[in-house]
Amino acid sequence: MSLTELLLKRIALEGPISIADYMTDALLHPKLGYYATRDPFGQTGDFITAPEISQMFGELIGLSLAQCWQDQGAPKTFTLAELGPGRGTLMKDALRAASNVPGFKPDVVFLEASATLRDVQRDTLSDVQITWVNAITDLPAQPLFLIANEFLDALPIRQFQRAGPGWQEIRIGAEDDRLCFGLGQQQKQPSLQDRLEDTKDGDIVEHCASAIQVTQQISAHIAQHGGAALLIDYGDWRSLGDTLQALKDHKSVHPLTDPGDADLTAHVDFEAIANAVSPAKHTKLTPQGVFLERLGITHRAQALAKHLTGDALTAHINAHRRLTHPSEMGNLFKVIGIYPDSHMPPPGLDP
Ligand code: SAH
Repeated sequence: MSLTELLLKRIALEGPISIADYMTDALLHPKLGYYATRDPFGQTGDFITAPEISQMFGELIGLSLAQCWQDQGAPKTFTLAELGPGRGTLMKDALRAASNVPGFKPDVVFLEASATLRDVQRDTLSDVQITWVNAITDLPAQPLFLIANEFLDALPIRQFQRAGPGWQEIRIGAEDDRLCFGLGQQQKQPSLQDRLEDTKDGDIVEHCASAIQVTQQISAHIAQHGGAALLIDYGDWRSLGDTLQALKDHKSVHPLTDPGDADLTAHVDFEAIANAVSPAKHTKLTPQGVFLERLGITHRAQALAKHLTGDALTAHINAHRRLTHPSEMGNLFKVIGIYPDSHMPPPGLDP
């Protein structure tokens, strides 16, 4: 049975489902979900992410977190964690770069829902002892230095359309044996109370309860045990409008046509993330290009360029541009840091 058939059956039984329920099945259904069935990254996959574009990305993240670790007194025992590590490329580059930092011997922990990708991560980091956990609350009770790149955008969102003093949820139902969008009943939504001020009838806002929960858990851990987190994703300060998108073979497709066969993401609402950072502190939201420049990506790029010629040099120059230029990933992607009240923010980010 295909995932579309399975979802149609579920809708026939239960009625229309939320976009969050749809995303959860489309991405993570254990047999038919997108991440459960493939390694989607790279030129031959459906999309390419920053760590797959250049080793410089993971290297700079690794050094940034190692600097945070030093600033917090270089605790002997600590966790270096990644949420949604994909192929494990970022962590490999981060560990290689930070291996020159004396005493930096982390317990490496991954949070990864896909069994297929866990295998890929095990291969990529065959010389590293990795522990996989299923939840932030399962992380060891010790300082936590954490990176999540393009993780929050994969978490399930719900969408609501403004209707007078309330909201209608955008749901997924069925028509002529096909999945289609529809509108639920008008209701009050306590979690969207503050959005009544800046929206008008017909406007769509998105709400990602899991991203808020994950952020609260990371913040609580860092406030209690120390550490720092870098959350990097595409999105902006306040979500307005429909940002649900499906990608297949590097092209955008309709979000309902290929459940399980296309990647589904939504922009991250960084205001909601920032509001969830308590009792730790969060940095200002910073464009990825600015963050990487401050960490010295151009120096690193020049050093690597000395060893390259021809096509490899051209690819390297393009990769640097792609990661940093405002018209490429430099502005679309943003970074927010989480850090303890008593310490400095992570390098490259403002308090
Ligand atoms: N960080 C990587 C991969 C980003 S793709 C990179 O930058 O290349 C999203 C990753 O998050 C994948 O590894 C996917 O399997 C994982 N993922 C998605 N939803 C998840 C969830 N709810 N829990 C744990 N991992 C999840």
